[in-house]
Amino acid sequence: MTAQLVESFDEMRSLLRAEHRSEHRVGVVPTMGALHEGHLSLIRKARETTDFVVTTVFVNPTQFGPNEDFERYPRRLEEDHRLASSAGAHAVFAPKTEEMYPPGEQTRVVVRTISQGLCGAHRPGHFEGVTTVVSKLFHLLGEGTYFFGKKDFQQLRVIEAMARDLFFPVAIVGCPIVRESDGLAMSSRNAYLSPSARQQARALWEGLQAAWRSYQEGERKVQELLSLARAPIDASEFELEYLELRGRDQLEALEQISQGGSLVQPAVLLVAAELEGTRLIDNVVLEPGAPAQLGGVR
Ligand code: AMP
Repeated sequence: MTAQLVESFDEMRSLLRAEHRSEHRVGVVPTMGALHEGHLSLIRKARETTDFVVTTVFVNPTQFGPNEDFERYPRRLEEDHRLASSAGAHAVFAPKTEEMYPPGEQTRVVVRTISQGLCGAHRPGHFEGVTTVVSKLFHLLGEGTYFFGKKDFQQLRVIEAMARDLFFPVAIVGCPIVRESDGLAMSSRNAYLSPSARQQARALWEGLQAAWRSYQEGERKVQELLSLARAPIDASEFELEYLELRGRDQLEALEQISQGGSLVQPAVLLVAAELEGTRLIDNVVLEPGAPAQLGGVR
């Protein structure tokens, strides 16, 4: 089945009106395109639990900083349309920038505390761009279940907070990270890596995995977990941006989830690092009794 390719707001609205009238459950997978297995896993998940799946493809200018990769971000709508169709999407919504951000537009949506720190500290304005575009999508596409990857863990928590605080009639589902066979989290930006950088990129997951294993064996000391995660990164050419332990549910500060230097609450270990100018992020949830495959590649 080939997904319907929709570019205009009007066409998208009338398609969804018909679906809502038929009481079909709508599922939405927002993306910036350059689709890979990570995105496709979200589309498949949406297919399992909803009746009409829309994949959005929009490289959102407001979430890129002035020195970031907006210009060179991969754009291949035809291929994305084919891949989204093969994963079972019913529609691909690829709006034009002029319609998303018409001349004179001046509104931004800001989520406060949870957007600060981590990626928010290193990419000023990034989450403001994300929450603005996602709220536009929530308004345009309306009621439904929206699927986001845990790969962008802070983004997921920020969007959950926004949906809750602004009473959007949406359900948010966070989906597992899909990885390459060596553990590197799939990302459209992995394509920027040279072959030698690609070899080294596994260091991020190696570190997270070492901390995860140790946690599952009973280690709770914050410094020990952080140094386990850090070792492979330090041994590589990655330039570390941040490596932090936060609360799993609200990204609470370390002081709120630890006592005497040991974790006492479920946590998430998050990392961002640059290799050859390419910025990569990854994370792993540390909670007791998590399924074994979380520490492995899948
Ligand atoms: P992006 O196109 O990078 O903005 O990503 C669109 C959605 O796909 C976001 O919700 C991401 O978290 C999710 N995503 C990206 N990479 C992965 C991955 N490797 N595994 C699971 N979800 C992913």
